[in-house]
Amino acid sequence: MKNKQILFLALISSFVLSCNPSLKIDPALGESPGVLYEAVDLRETPVSFKKPKNIILMIGDGMGLTQITAGMYRHQNKLNLEHFKVIGLHKSYASNSLITDSAAGATAFACGVKTYNGAIGVDADTIPQKTLLEEAEEKGLATGLVSTSTIVHATPASFISHVPSRKMYEAIAADFLKTEIDLFIGGGKKYFDRRESDDRNLYQELEQKGYAVSDYFKEDFFKLSVSAKQNFVYFTADGDPLPVANGRNYLPGASKLAVEFLKEKSASENGFFLMIEGSQIDWGGHANNSNYIITEMHDFDRSIGEVLKFAQRDKETLVVVTADHETGGYSINSGSTMDSLVTAFTTDYHTGTMIPVFAYGPGAELFGGIYENTSIYHKIKRAAGF
Ligand code: MG
Ligand code: ZN
Repeated sequence: MKNKQILFLALISSFVLSCNPSLKIDPALGESPGVLYEAVDLRETPVSFKKPKNIILMIGDGMGLTQITAGMYRHQNKLNLEHFKVIGLHKSYASNSLITDSAAGATAFACGVKTYNGAIGVDADTIPQKTLLEEAEEKGLATGLVSTSTIVHATPASFISHVPSRKMYEAIAADFLKTEIDLFIGGGKKYFDRRESDDRNLYQELEQKGYAVSDYFKEDFFKLSVSAKQNFVYFTADGDPLPVANGRNYLPGASKLAVEFLKEKSASENGFFLMIEGSQIDWGGHANNSNYIITEMHDFDRSIGEVLKFAQRDKETLVVVTADHETGGYSINSGSTMDSLVTAFTTDYHTGTMIPVFAYGPGAELFGGIYENTSIYHKIKRAAGF
């Protein structure tokens, strides 16, 4: 018995010693990236899935895992995002930088190409690439964009416009007129009706094209009566919409309106494609402002709830939620409680960490695993069958 105990102690202590990281550190560590080794090659097993009729892509700009975690803890440890059973990770880097911006990030989702920071719907050689929205339109699907930035800002712009620089707001606005998009809601009215680069009035041109156009000045969003007999545009601000903390409240309502509108519009057709963006989670990160991040995260998660309620009823809708990149190098540190987070930031710009992807509905199976941000485009196309 005694011998067995000694043997046991000896085994335990040798195990503890072998686990102790303070022992035998090679002085070369930290100077070299280490020896490259071959990754295991598992044959990909074919995934079987049901084809969805409708596609909803939701982008929380700047929404890394810590932004999600902070939003969760500051909402009694619960988010709508927790309902997703299929979760993956994407690699967000751009063609010219390990740290992507929102233009290259959204163009990767919209067009399936890695491009340079600042590029809107064009590849690394500035060649225009067809977007998911345009391909959906060609296949006879109804289409829509909803955002809490201006509608010509990098994320929504990358789904409908083709310009070499994200700053070409008026050129991006003009590109909306080149499509048959059924619905869009966001800020940036001034790029349509008070243009500096030409004297076109795109607000009027939209009306002439048959759109029902309204704006925050004319009509309260929540008093709108919207008919799917007409295409629909609503401008939520002249420039950037307000932060949630300063009174903006339309994203959950606009998400609900958009899915119901597009569903009705596509009733006799081939379904719809909709992109919804929670734009300002990113702006909270740039401002290194935890409360800004958390309030925007909650607004986006409420919108996810509206979309999930629809998708659960509809049963023919694939919902994919992700971010273009993380912003702020945001962390939750020691001393935090669920009611009071001690947070820190490592930068006021974006970071290069991998980004979570959440999928629900027919075709969701395709979104598990680790892959490039451009794969989101290919997976959506594969799921939708176009
Ligand atoms: Mg954005
Ligand atoms: Zn940003």
